[in-house]
Amino acid sequence: MASTAPLIRGYEVVIGIETHTQLSTHSKIFSGSATAFGAAPNTQASPVDLALPGTLPVMNRGAVERAIRFGLAVGAKVAPVSIFARKNYFYPDLPKGYQISQYETPVVQGGTVEFFVAGPSTGSGQSEKHVVHLTRAHLEEDAGKSLHEAYQGQTGIDLNRAGTPLLEIVTEPDMRSSREAVEYAKTLHRLVTWIGICDGNMQEGSFRCDANVSVRKPGTEYGTRREIKNLNSFKFMQQAIDYEVQWQIDLIEDGGTVRQATVLFDAASGETRAMRSKEDAHDYRYFPDPDLPPLVIDPAWVERVRAQMPELPAVMAARFERDYGLAVADAALMTQSKAVASYFEAAAAASAQPKLVANWIMGELSRRLHAQGLDIGASPVGAPALAALVARIGDGTISNSGARQVFDALWSGEGQAVNALIELKGLKQMGDSDELERIVDAVLAANAKSVEEYRAGKDKAFNALVGQAMKATKGKGNPAQVGELLKKKLAG
Ligand code: ADP
Ligand code: MG
Repeated sequence: MASTAPLIRGYEVVIGIETHTQLSTHSKIFSGSATAFGAAPNTQASPVDLALPGTLPVMNRGAVERAIRFGLAVGAKVAPVSIFARKNYFYPDLPKGYQISQYETPVVQGGTVEFFVAGPSTGSGQSEKHVVHLTRAHLEEDAGKSLHEAYQGQTGIDLNRAGTPLLEIVTEPDMRSSREAVEYAKTLHRLVTWIGICDGNMQEGSFRCDANVSVRKPGTEYGTRREIKNLNSFKFMQQAIDYEVQWQIDLIEDGGTVRQATVLFDAASGETRAMRSKEDAHDYRYFPDPDLPPLVIDPAWVERVRAQMPELPAVMAARFERDYGLAVADAALMTQSKAVASYFEAAAAASAQPKLVANWIMGELSRRLHAQGLDIGASPVGAPALAALVARIGDGTISNSGARQVFDALWSGEGQAVNALIELKGLKQMGDSDELERIVDAVLAANAKSVEEYRAGKDKAFNALVGQAMKATKGKGNPAQVGELLKKKLAG
């Protein structure tokens, strides 16, 4: 939890997040229809999804396994027995009249998500550790979709999405700022994609968050929350919470009272708008679904899943700090995805300068990938080539600007190895060579005035001499070496 919760106009912000994570199974949670996105309407809806009489749901083992994987990843209790319940409500895209979910006894109970947030206003880049407690994560089915466009004056119903498996992940009201909420959501997103339970595609709705927001004077009871539904981008989440907080404070300051409500964020206007007053749990008339037996998870199954768990991003980040000397923030960046982590690790393991490797990945490489919309897995400069390049910077063979030229050549696929490119392009820096000494001598001879000024105690004159000498080396001199040599000569 935030120890330095920033106050806004004297109010503390309280946020709890519910995330609908679409599980990456090929078939639905209770039927055999496909879950693939983008098919023609109602081509992936079986009699079960259509709620035809006489059909019965059958639990998808893959969905349960993904829930177990998540439970293990957040250190939660995986319930040996959990119960499916009917959540009753009417909506045209819910033909059964109820959604199968879990209520009193969810499959995943408790757990934590940890992440770092950069210091609030210090700008020092210092990171503070935050821990968000999870209340639960439960399995449920998604509803269908109502299509309002392209059906003039009518609404189309597409039941392809009905029955798609979801894991709804619910936090305690632990967050205290929009920034913290966004960092939580990003960390969760990284985690569910990392452990392979969700494709993480936010445009397609595979990972969507509801943010519950309230404000209070510090030290008082929690205020009444409003729930912002279906945030499918981190940017919108930040904007929506920031707007909502100001809206609630305005209301309270004007003498009003916040009423529990479900609101939508309108990205075009940047405002949140009330959609409906919020239902309470008793409105849903939850009861155990008689069509499904209790979900029993054998401890041996949990152990089998545990044995297959990958190293988790937070564990890997700590290892990168320890083994490669990375700063907290850099280790977080190097574990932003599995692909980045394996690229970094491949290059760093082959390098004497892992920090420099990280710098090149965060700098030049990221810039190029971003500009061309490429994933790091598709980088034309592979990890071994980057490691080789960094080695030549590290041993002083090439300067940073020389390295960028080599990188350019590698990127555009000139087909040569790093060392060959350095030779080919004549990028070798001049070491402690005779050539460098000749250049320095010539510069001293040609700049008698600067030499005189330097001897008279003008530091600026020295810089001018270094500049002249660097120019004479055509950038291949090492500035530190050139400076040393000049000093030696001037003293002699
Ligand atoms: P529901 O299931 O009706 O949405 P819950 O009580 O399960 O209600 O809470 C849902 C989310 O709202 C949780 O993430 C919880 O942390 C959060 N929450 C509860 N009370 C508050 C509050 N006063 N301010 C902000 N968030 C809250
Ligand atoms: Mg809710």
